[in-house]
Amino acid sequence: MATLEIHDLHVSVDAEGGPREILRGVDLTVKQGETHAIMGPNGSGKSTLAYSLAGHPKYTITGGTVTLDGEDVLAMSVDERARAGVFLAMQYPVEVPGVSVSNFLRTSATAIRGEAPKLRTWVKEVKEAMERLNIDPSFAERNVNEGFSGGEKKRHEILQLELLKPAIAILDETDSGLDVDALRVVSEGVNRVREAGQVGTLLITHYTRILRYIKPDHVHVFAAGRIAESGGPELADKLEEEGYEAYVKGGASE
Ligand code: ADP
Ligand code: MG
Ligand code: MG
Repeated sequence: MATLEIHDLHVSVDAEGGPREILRGVDLTVKQGETHAIMGPNGSGKSTLAYSLAGHPKYTITGGTVTLDGEDVLAMSVDERARAGVFLAMQYPVEVPGVSVSNFLRTSATAIRGEAPKLRTWVKEVKEAMERLNIDPSFAERNVNEGFSGGEKKRHEILQLELLKPAIAILDETDSGLDVDALRVVSEGVNRVREAGQVGTLLITHYTRILRYIKPDHVHVFAAGRIAESGGPELADKLEEEGYEAYVKGGASE
C-alpha cells in the first residue's frame, strides 16, 4: 500500500514584488485507501498544495519533504510523478489542440503503466467507464478541454481517475460549478474508485456539500498555509455550522 508523506512543506510563489511564502509547514500523511478532505477558506493555499505536489513550475519548494513510499517526490519530474502514481485532476486544465479525449487517455495510460493497454480491452474499458459517468460516446472524439463545460471537465477528471487508477489522487475543487445531478455522478465515480481500495484521495474543497456524497475518513482544516486542525468526519459538520472564522481570525491568509 502506497503512502504519501508530506513533512514540514514550505512553498513560495513568484509574485510581483518577489517571492511570497504561501505554504508554511504542511504535515500530512495519506495512505492508499484513505480519503482526506482538505477544507479551508479561499486563499489559504489549498491549490498551492495541490500544484506543489504535482510539480507545477510556478511554485518553489523552500523547505520540507514529500515522499511516496520513501521515494523523493520533489526530485521527480511531472511525468515521473504521474508514473509513480500521483494524480492531480487539474494537471491538464488547458486545451490540447488536436488531441482527442480517447487518444489522451490512452497516451496517459501508456505513460503510467509503462506499456500501451491492449486496444480491444482498452476500448471496452473506456466505453464502460463513460457509461458509468453518463458521458455521451461522442465525447471521446472531442479535443481535450476544447469547449468543455465545467461539468464536462469534472467528468473528464473522474474518467481519468477511473481509467488511470493512481495510487494518490488529488482532487481540487472537484465540486465547484457542478449542479446536484453532476455532483452525484462525479461523487459516485470517486466512490467507485475508492471502493476498489487502491486509491488514497486528497479531496480539496471550500464547501462541505460534496462531503454528503463522498465520506472522508479524515478532515483537515487548512488556514494560512498550514493544517490548523485535523479530525474525523465530525469536523466537517462543525465547519458547516461554524464556518472558518475561528481559523482565520488574527491570522488571515490574505
Ligand atoms: P486556495 O486554493 O486555498 O484558495 P491558493 O493556493 O489558490 O488558495 O492561493 C493562496 C495564496 O497564494 C493566495 O493569496 C494567492 O493569491 C496566492 N497565489 C497562489 N498562486 C499564485 C501565483 N501563481 N501567483 C501569485 N500568487 C499566487
Ligand atoms: Mg481559491
Ligand atoms: Mg484553490
